[in-house]
Amino acid sequence: MPDILVIGSLNADLVVRAPRFPHPGETISGEDLKIIPGGKGANQAVAAARQGANVTMLGRVGNDSFGPFLLNSLKLNQVDTSLVLTDDSATGTAIIVVDSNGQNSIVLSAGANGKVSSADVDHASFQGFGLLLLQLEIPIPAVFRAAQRAHESGLRILLNPAPAQPLPDALISLADFIIPNETELGLLTGQPVNDISSAEGAARVLLKRGAKNVIVTLGGNGSLVVTNHLTKHIPSFKVDVIDTTAAGDAFIGGFASALLRGVEIEDAVKYANACGALATTKFGAQPSLPTREEVERFIK
Ligand code: ADP
Repeated sequence: MPDILVIGSLNADLVVRAPRFPHPGETISGEDLKIIPGGKGANQAVAAARQGANVTMLGRVGNDSFGPFLLNSLKLNQVDTSLVLTDDSATGTAIIVVDSNGQNSIVLSAGANGKVSSADVDHASFQGFGLLLLQLEIPIPAVFRAAQRAHESGLRILLNPAPAQPLPDALISLADFIIPNETELGLLTGQPVNDISSAEGAARVLLKRGAKNVIVTLGGNGSLVVTNHLTKHIPSFKVDVIDTTAAGDAFIGGFASALLRGVEIEDAVKYANACGALATTKFGAQPSLPTREEVERFIK
């Protein structure tokens, strides 16, 4: 199987449950802190590796105790970390408060992720990789450079435009697959997306702007494939949801690994739906990502 290169973020997720969100200036008590490896780049790397893909991560961590913690989580999941640089900034961190309704409130500190540069991308060899996974938690110039180099080197490119922000057409058209959720698709196109038909309309706007294949993830509604030849809604699997963190990352890792195994797009999306559903049945980011055995048992 050709290898996957992930160029993106690594974050420590500091999660505390509290009865409610504090008001400005107020102090309230929460439960014990959980420190969980996360960051969209690292999550997608682990998600694909647990599906049996050979994965290499390129990114940056800081010179603090979270750096080795995050690298270790990647290594435990057989992700090659030789292209992750350590610099003297803080490691990327997400400070997450979860209230009694399960709502999240998050402050993201990019730290070392914000230092990933086009030069970092240029120092890496793209030889031997079949597919590049990109998200938007590192600076856009580095994302753009990575897409250009992957395109020149013949890698397929999966772009997850998260967190939500507008993007230039030049980047959208370099991606072989662009995989937004509803919020991200809304921000990319400037059109509200709140159901299947508005998602299809907005996905068609992306096709006009040069996108090749758009896959919209719709949470509990599954996902929607929109290409110039195909429009297909693929429903979700029914599960008891505990925590939806990293459902999208599980979806992307599962989709990428299925593509590399030669699975056709519709079946790869169905498989990815199963990966996303399983991730919602466990708490946290990387700990919730399913293995290939778990997904195959679940689909049966
Ligand atoms: P993100 O985490 O990026 O917001 P989504 O919430 O759209 O992404 O979830 C990604 C995928 O995970 C969905 O396309 C779906 O297949 C699966 N998923 C998410 N939430 C649920 C749910 N409540 N029940 C079943 N599957 C889900």
